[in-house]
Parts: sequence; C-alpha cells; structure tokens
Amino acid sequence: MEYRKNDLVTLEIEDCGIDGEGIGKADGFTVFVKDAVIGDTVTAKIMKSKKHYGYGKLMEILKPSPYRVEPKCAFARQCGGCQLQALSYEHQLVFKTNKVKGHLERIGGFKDLPMEPIIGMDEPYHYRNKAQFPVGRNKEGKIITGFYAGRTHTIIENRDCALGVPENKEVLDRVISHMEKWNIAPYDETTGNGLVRHILIRYGYFTGEVMVCLILNGTKLPHEDELTEKLREIKGMTSITINVNKKKSNVILGEEIRILWGQGYITDKIGDISYQISPLSFYQVNPKQTQKLYAKALEYADLHGDETVWDLYCGIGTISLFLAQQAKFVRGVEIIPQAIENANENARINNITNVEFFTGKAEEVLPREYEKNGIYADVIVVDPPRKGCDETLLETMIKMQPKRIVYVSCDSATLARDLKYLCANGYSLTRVCPVDQFGGTVHVETVALLSRNN
Ligand code: SAH
Repeated sequence: MEYRKNDLVTLEIEDCGIDGEGIGKADGFTVFVKDAVIGDTVTAKIMKSKKHYGYGKLMEILKPSPYRVEPKCAFARQCGGCQLQALSYEHQLVFKTNKVKGHLERIGGFKDLPMEPIIGMDEPYHYRNKAQFPVGRNKEGKIITGFYAGRTHTIIENRDCALGVPENKEVLDRVISHMEKWNIAPYDETTGNGLVRHILIRYGYFTGEVMVCLILNGTKLPHEDELTEKLREIKGMTSITINVNKKKSNVILGEEIRILWGQGYITDKIGDISYQISPLSFYQVNPKQTQKLYAKALEYADLHGDETVWDLYCGIGTISLFLAQQAKFVRGVEIIPQAIENANENARINNITNVEFFTGKAEEVLPREYEKNGIYADVIVVDPPRKGCDETLLETMIKMQPKRIVYVSCDSATLARDLKYLCANGYSLTRVCPVDQFGGTVHVETVALLSRNN
C-alpha cells in the first residue's frame, strides 16, 4: 500500500530512527514520525511521501508508550537541541546501545560484537558545561535568545535550558538587557547586518568558574564597560571576552579574541588534573561522564609505564595528560593553535613533563613524523570530530603497527567505517563501550579497542 500527502495513518511505533524520530508501519509502508516515541500508538498525517516510505506529522497519541515521560523542558519538542526528552532515560540508553550496535554491524560489518554495557549518567539534566546561544529577534521585533529549532535557524526562545547550568540565564538576562538599553541590534543572517551573533558560556563544574564570550559581527560592543560591570556580579565570573566573526557563514566562532575583563580562559578539573580552557578550544561538555570516558580509554590503553603513546585530535591535552601519568611519553596532535597553547600550559601547571604537543592536522603531522623521524607508537589514541579519521591517517597508523589503538568517537557511523578499515588491515576489534555524554539527545560517545593481530 502506498500513502499520499495529507493521508492520515494509524501506526504502532516500533523503532526509533537515528535522529530520535519514531518509526512505524502502515500496511508495509514505513512512516517516520518526529516526536513519536517507541511503544506509542499514534495517528500521523503524511507530509511527504516516497515509494516505500514517508514522513508523517504527529497528530494524536492514541495510546502513549510505557517509556514516555514528561520532558523537563517546556520547549523540548520544538527545540533542535534535544530529540529524546520524552523517552525515559533508561530507554534512551537502550536506544543509544542499539544505535552503536546497529552502526557497527551494518556499516562496519562486525558480528558477535564485544560490547560492554553502556555507561549512563546518574542525572541526565543540567550536565552541560557549555552553551552557545544565538541572538535574534522574534516576529514582534523583540530581542530573543535560545536555541535553533530542528533543521532551521528559527530561534526557540529559552534562557534556561534544562541541560545547562543556572548561570546561563543570569548571563543571558544581563546581555539582552544591555542590548535593549543601548539599542544594540542582534545579527541578522539574511542581511548580514546587526552586531551580536552568539553568546558562548562555559562553566567549570569543579571550580565554579564562569566564562562569557560574545561573538560579534564587529570589533566592539557599545558600552562594554557597563556590561562587564553587570556580568562581574555573577558568582564565579572569571573570563569575559569578545570574539570577532564578520563572515557570512554558519561557523559560530571567528579567530580573533579580545579580553574585556579577567583572564582569557577558565580552569576546570577532571580527576586530579587541572585544565585551562580558552573560548576557541574544544572541551568535553559533560564533565562527570568525561571522567568515566577517559577512565575507559585509559583502561583500554593498558599502560604499564614504558609505552610511547600518540594522542591524535588531542584538544587541550585532556586525554594526553591522563595517559602521561601511566606512560613513558605521550605526543598529542591538534589543529587549533589556541588549544595547543592550553595543552602546553596544562602540562606545565600539572607538572607533567613527559608530553609534547604538535599543532597541525593529524593526517599531516603523523605521516610527516613517521616518514621523517621514524617515530614509533605502542599505543595510539584517536578522538576525532564527527566526520571521523582521514584515510591518510588510518594508513599511517597501519604502517606504524601500534599494539593497540583506542578509538574515542562521538559518531558511531564514522567509527564503524574507520574500524572496518583498520580491521581489514591487521587489527581486531576486541572491546567496545558506549558512554552517554548527552542525555536527552540522540548523541552518544563510544570507546573502542583494536588489538594488533599476531
Ligand atoms: N581529545 C580531546 C578533543 C576531542 S574533540 C578531548 O577529549 O577533549 C576533537 C578535536 O579534534 C578538536 O579539538 C578539534 O579541534 C580537533 N581537530 C579537528 N580536525 C582535526 C585534524 N584534522 N587534525 C587534528 N585535530 C583536529
């Protein structure tokens, strides 16, 4: 049976797609329904129809799923940040486990996966240490901030995200009042006019330090000193900066940072190690789970003190410094120069001397060091962004023949692709463990261990 646009169908939601949408079947015709939850019986209106499947709009929940819960955030349905808030946290973990398993089996071609149980969060709300709020106007012209709706750049107004810290609201209230008082325009993506683009806020969970970075389509904010005074009232305020981004693009941050007040970084701690973090540097967003993630990576690396280790995509050297406590020497590679500045400083403030950091692309630095200097590795750790590793990098890793490769991934689809390549070239997948860093969303982190075949 084929359905057309505007047809109404009744479905039992039996599965969940990778973006968290419910999936059900009507007479063999598959329908993807946003906001429907596994276990629901729903009526959906077909909005778009292909030959064997279509996309439906949730019209009515005839029978709610036993896994359905009340989202903590009133905007959970519209906001693009969360996709799974209406699913019980326990079932979110089932979804994430199946997602990782599905990718490894379908894309990676793996069977009999050596999967360990997913490491979940104790409290799946208020865990994020970082948020980037776009600033714009609503239909009435009022200045608003919040998060983009799914797949669009419409701002859903919300200053108090349920995943973030209460400090976010305090910062946003002060910045928006300042803009209203002095008639400072938010940036308009369509015209390229207006000044304030985003407000970046970071919070050190361990230290209580707060960072605010205003991303401007310009170099200066009117009455900067007055805003600085207001922001300094917030407990823990440590760093107030301006980032200049005049490009007409979706990239949030520009390259230039100017300090308005305080330091250009905040400090936070994971385990026993302190880290300085600049606005431009990557830092894991969920500090409690990061500790568990790094512990798992360290366990997989199985270090005894005499190993040479490479930590590729090292950011501010977080994993490198963790590893350095148990290895002979660690080398980190990272593309963002400011992150490498942080990494060097982080080694220094923690008195860790058996590390060296390289600025550059992992897929350029590693082949260069291998071919020129004949560098060696007992263990290689990689933690790439969502697009995964470049094939040149994987080739070099295979040439280097480390005993173990520990792959930390925030996208199980590219993880599966890269593991398939490595396992076709002399490695075996020996352990896999998903770690949830992102409650309420469809995202999941995974750690995998590859061992060299003898
Ligand atoms: N391991 C770190 C950072 C992981 S995020 C941590 O746990 O905190 C991925 C990092 O890879 C980011 O810091 C990003 O800037 C960096 N990156 C992106 N592309 C890269 C490339 N081609 N080569 C090296 N680093 C890259």
